[in-house]
Amino acid sequence: MSCDFFALANTGVQGLHPYQAGKPTDELERELGLTNIVKLASNENPLGVGQLVKAALDQQLAGITRYPDANGFYLKQALADKYDLAPAQFTLGNGSNDVLELIARSFVTPDHEVIFAQHAFVVYPLVTQAIGATGVAVPAKDWGHDLPAMLAAITERTRLIFIANPNNPTGTFLTAEALYEFLTQVPKDVLVVLDEAYFEYVDKELQAPSITWLTAFSNLIITRTFSKAYGLAGLRVGYSMSHPDIADILNRVRQPFNCNSFALAAAQAALSDHDFLTASVALNNQQRAVLETFFSDQGIGYIPSKGNFITMELTQDPAAVYQALLHKGVIVRPVAGYGLTQHLRVSIGTELENETFMQALLTVLAELDAL
Ligand SMILES: *Cc1c(COP(=O)(O)O)cnc(C)c1O
Repeated sequence: MSCDFFALANTGVQGLHPYQAGKPTDELERELGLTNIVKLASNENPLGVGQLVKAALDQQLAGITRYPDANGFYLKQALADKYDLAPAQFTLGNGSNDVLELIARSFVTPDHEVIFAQHAFVVYPLVTQAIGATGVAVPAKDWGHDLPAMLAAITERTRLIFIANPNNPTGTFLTAEALYEFLTQVPKDVLVVLDEAYFEYVDKELQAPSITWLTAFSNLIITRTFSKAYGLAGLRVGYSMSHPDIADILNRVRQPFNCNSFALAAAQAALSDHDFLTASVALNNQQRAVLETFFSDQGIGYIPSKGNFITMELTQDPAAVYQALLHKGVIVRPVAGYGLTQHLRVSIGTELENETFMQALLTVLAELDAL
């Protein structure tokens, strides 16, 4: 007989639930014997891999017998050049999720409170709970962050605040002015993580000059990723930009080889492939408008989005719609776990994928309405 390992887990960990990822395409293939599946569940780039990234990956193959560069020298240098920062301000991660967890593990103890918004990215409560710290979910305003309420939630136990801009899964967006004003009000010993995973999709004139704020706000940590607009979700690479003293701490806690050699090389190549990024953002923003028009025309509720996904607000049972879409070979994302009880999130795909989705959705909704 084995012992009760659940009882042995630390108290925070006992309260965890497994992360619910988007359903993988091959899993649906196995389960339903379908082909030509359209996966619009995990906010991935539908354009595939750019030529520069492919070439960089080919080049790396011969070197995989060696450990990767533990410090990611070339990638940090390329990022530093791009953003006019020092390499010492960067922390690389196995996806930016890795960095989000590093930040929490490095600075937060069970005595601390961590503030995030209701309906915000699930990794924030997850990493907080794993430490055994207290998560403070501040009620959303119009599905997004209520910054004045988040300020009011700060106590002497608050160590960290997570803000996603744009937010996933709601796609809501905070203006640069509102964020800047917020930062001026946060005590200097409370860290603010500004998670900009979808930054590249935001229209240029709305993008916050957040990197320039790092000088004035030493408690600010900005995270970004190669998983979304850069199209490298499967390789797992993201990073933070912060005061060098914060990066120094994160880099001590970080596992030395948390970014593998393919990830490092591909990310560096992706940074230089301006055409691929431009095409990815242009496709997304054009197709986002197509989907939003479709929802409006069909009387389907949705939350306006600044990301590469849209969250629908349905009158039908979202779990039933999700299942029926699966049977038509379309994978979207249930978001009930985010407290979004009438909603489903759809990632923006290629024109063809979106057309397949829209057709399938109309059929499914009509079938459910007829029951
Ligand atoms: C997708 C996402 C991330 C990044 O995930 P990684 O693949 O780990 O880089 C971070 N924050 C939000 C809000 C996201 O939606």
